[in-house]
Amino acid sequence: MNTETYLKSLIDRLEQTRALSREEWASLIRGRTPGLSEYLFERARTIRIRHYGRDIYIRGLIEFTSWCRNDCYYCGLRKSNHGADRYRLTKEEILSCCENGYHLGFRTFVLQGGEDCWYTDEYMEDLISSIRRAWPDCAITLSLGEKSYESYRRFALAGADRYLLRHETFDEAHYRKLHPPRMSAAHRQQCLRDLKELGYQTGTGFMVGSPYQTPENLADDMLFIKNLNPQMVGIGPFIPHHGTPFAGKPAGTLELTLFLLGLIRLMLPRVLLPATTALGTIAPDGRERGILAGANVVMPNLSPVRVREKYLLYDNKLCTGDEAAESLAQLDARMAAVGYRLVTARGDSLNI
Ligand code: SAH
Ligand code: SF4
Repeated sequence: MNTETYLKSLIDRLEQTRALSREEWASLIRGRTPGLSEYLFERARTIRIRHYGRDIYIRGLIEFTSWCRNDCYYCGLRKSNHGADRYRLTKEEILSCCENGYHLGFRTFVLQGGEDCWYTDEYMEDLISSIRRAWPDCAITLSLGEKSYESYRRFALAGADRYLLRHETFDEAHYRKLHPPRMSAAHRQQCLRDLKELGYQTGTGFMVGSPYQTPENLADDMLFIKNLNPQMVGIGPFIPHHGTPFAGKPAGTLELTLFLLGLIRLMLPRVLLPATTALGTIAPDGRERGILAGANVVMPNLSPVRVREKYLLYDNKLCTGDEAAESLAQLDARMAAVGYRLVTARGDSLNI
């Protein structure tokens, strides 16, 4: 059997059994070709259409603080980046983002920010329960980083339904190359187990092409995700930020990100899989191509316009075009052009 035939047989087996060994994952990722990718995307689209039709769920992203106590080497919000323009949104401003989003058709609000202690647990509980009361038909997703079990529990009781926390990379040695010593892969993974135990619809994920990443690291990521069985998986290319230690590192590629999206769709057929802003940043048609590789979610920006250019995780982040929530019609037209449509349903995971 030649290599291409062998790798194709791995894709077929992944589709049938939803699992591969570490060695198989690594050889498939390392040996991918344009022809294999097309074969994979075709299978991924068929599976996605079987479960979700041609619907794309929308999530309104509210980036409510650009302050962060962490110092991840890749991120423009890291505390040592003194060039970052910092802001915080008040409860009233966040509620008005939700109000605006609700009128635009959003039924999921994603509150995302750096790890910012200014927002105490009491503040977050009050905020979450206010959103819950005002829009009982909406899902509330949090993406606030690593917190204690008790904090996560309080936020769930206040009305949060979902939580996004990328594991970033499973391998401890690789994790340590991306983060300062006080952070660890093990703690991140423990947070994810806590979130699942508390009943959150949980999202994990990683950056594609982060510095020092190997196909074996990605194989471990796939095995970890399989084992965690999350409801959502967010992946996007690493993109350097000029004010970080990784300023000169190469960005992750569109091509590898798309390949991994297709693989994730085969491994977890019913998972919610966003075509991320980072994907739209490295290529003008990145998000459409993500959808064609098996993704089924987009997350337009609902933050107030005046802060959008300040939440810079990486350079050239899209923030004024049709990834903005006000431009849903344009986004819908782009998705319609490739045969899909935005829907306003809450879009809970079929995988609860
Ligand atoms: N502070 C929270 C949420 C905000 S960061 C947290 O860390 O979970 C959200 C995600 O942005 C991170 O999980 C990371 O994967 C991604 N990110 C950060 N810097 C990035 C970069 N330079 N390129 C691409 N993605 C990046
Ligand atoms: Fe902070 Fe998240 Fe950026 Fe790390 S990735 S520095 S935790 S905002």
